[in-house]
Amino acid sequence: MDKREAKTEARGSTLFSPGLQHLLPGEKHIPRERRIFVNRNLRMDDIAALGFDMDHTLALYNRASFEQLTHDLAVQYLVEWQGYPEFIRDIHYNPDVVIRGLVVDKRHGNLLKMDFHDYIAKAMHGTRVLTHDERRKLYRRSRVNLHSDRYKSFDTLFSMPEGSLFSALMDLRAEDPKGPLGRLNPAQVFDDVRACVDKAHRDGSLKSIITKDLSRYFVWDPDLPATLLRFRALGKKVFLVTNSEHAYTEAVMQYLLGQSGYDWKELFDLVVVESRKPAFFLEKKDPEPIPAPECPDRGNFVYRGGNANWVEQFLGANGDQVLYFGDHTYGDILKSKRTVGWRTAMIVQELEKEIAANRRLLYQRRERNGLLARRQDLALDRDHLRFLLEALDGNGEKEAIAGRHQGLHYRLPELEEWFKLSPEERRRHREGMERVLEGLDYMSAQYRLRIEELSRVIDEGHNRYWGSLFREGNENSRFGRQVREFACIYTSRVSNFLSYSGNTYFIAPEERMPHER
Ligand code: IMP
Ligand code: MG
Repeated sequence: MDKREAKTEARGSTLFSPGLQHLLPGEKHIPRERRIFVNRNLRMDDIAALGFDMDHTLALYNRASFEQLTHDLAVQYLVEWQGYPEFIRDIHYNPDVVIRGLVVDKRHGNLLKMDFHDYIAKAMHGTRVLTHDERRKLYRRSRVNLHSDRYKSFDTLFSMPEGSLFSALMDLRAEDPKGPLGRLNPAQVFDDVRACVDKAHRDGSLKSIITKDLSRYFVWDPDLPATLLRFRALGKKVFLVTNSEHAYTEAVMQYLLGQSGYDWKELFDLVVVESRKPAFFLEKKDPEPIPAPECPDRGNFVYRGGNANWVEQFLGANGDQVLYFGDHTYGDILKSKRTVGWRTAMIVQELEKEIAANRRLLYQRRERNGLLARRQDLALDRDHLRFLLEALDGNGEKEAIAGRHQGLHYRLPELEEWFKLSPEERRRHREGMERVLEGLDYMSAQYRLRIEELSRVIDEGHNRYWGSLFREGNENSRFGRQVREFACIYTSRVSNFLSYSGNTYFIAPEERMPHER
């Protein structure tokens, strides 16, 4: 609990008797990691239908085991299918080397972290960090054209293993440029890795291993069925739209939702598998019914394919009456919002770790922010003093008059005082000012060192290679910007809704311009 929250709570306890406290829980009782964050106001009363993506949204993967499995299969296919050398079987999966929102430059084999403006803020070749000069030489501060085939953005957690494997292969290639990997260009390596991961998803190898051991690969959440049931109890329609195949969806959803004896589909008004998002939001493919013998009393409600407009008709809810939950920045969130006008809730599984890191690093972040503000003042003082010294060098009065013409009136009172002094007094003052300036220069250098050190500690506290997922320097990262722009609300898991009443009015915090802060 932070200071402000503690104060609010203290005030609350004087107003209400202890017996009433539990009726007035407020958001402060919800751990920050499990809260729902609001970018755009959303009145749950206005929502008639709630739609859910499955993978990484309703079904959260146990990342360590799932990503390791994807990595292992991709390595196996690289050797056995693409003819890569046996020694690549020794590559270990490195979960930290990729975060969401990174972009791969296939031509040079680099991973790039972009800032708010899509400029490259950090770059790595394998696990080697590119220097500032290397970055400038390769990318010359130019914006990356993410639509070109040269770049690929990692938008979902499914991409983490291929990013890590690609990075390891770039390391091996750099270690032995004349070896078997050295002869391949980075774009070829990336396409091969992509093809192997794709194959593991499509040929059933990944999913057959997962479905045999679901508890190993998924996070089982006891609150998930209750969350969906409550939405339905409030009279809202609940539907699933997943790109996964029917059999896989059955297995995963039954494991996550159907354990209390009922069939998982009873929680849904409509189920759509193999939806082909994002085309699902753009095209008009006809739905194909799939029989659901486990639910004999209901007509058709399980389909393959279909499209967003048909879903709206089926459920009798349109546009902003629909809230869609997804994890994919583009396929789920941007497309549903832009094309059919659905409201959007983004599930960001990494949020819990990010918030915990922010809490751990609270004092370092505070100190850094304080130093940044003070450094700004220091820089102004130095500029001011330098101006005075320069203006007084030799032809001070003439400079001062020129200054007046340049609109520098505010600096003139000091100069005018100065001109009243004798040359000897001026000399002594000048020496004093130079000493102050030296001191300010020294302080400024010390501030810079401390700020750099704190930035490094903060970055490493999030991810040793890339820093925070949501931030880069003093702004949002590209990923942070996307979450901010595309998602109406975002949270770490669907069951977080159980901590809020089903008809909450989610209100965005006040947005402030720099001059209002
Ligand atoms: P969602 O439920 O809409 O999130 O869809 C996820 C589905 O996409 C899962 O069935 C994944 O296996 C599948 N998928 C993820 N990455 C790939 C890929 O690279 N190739 C083919 N299918 C993929
Ligand atoms: Mg998904």
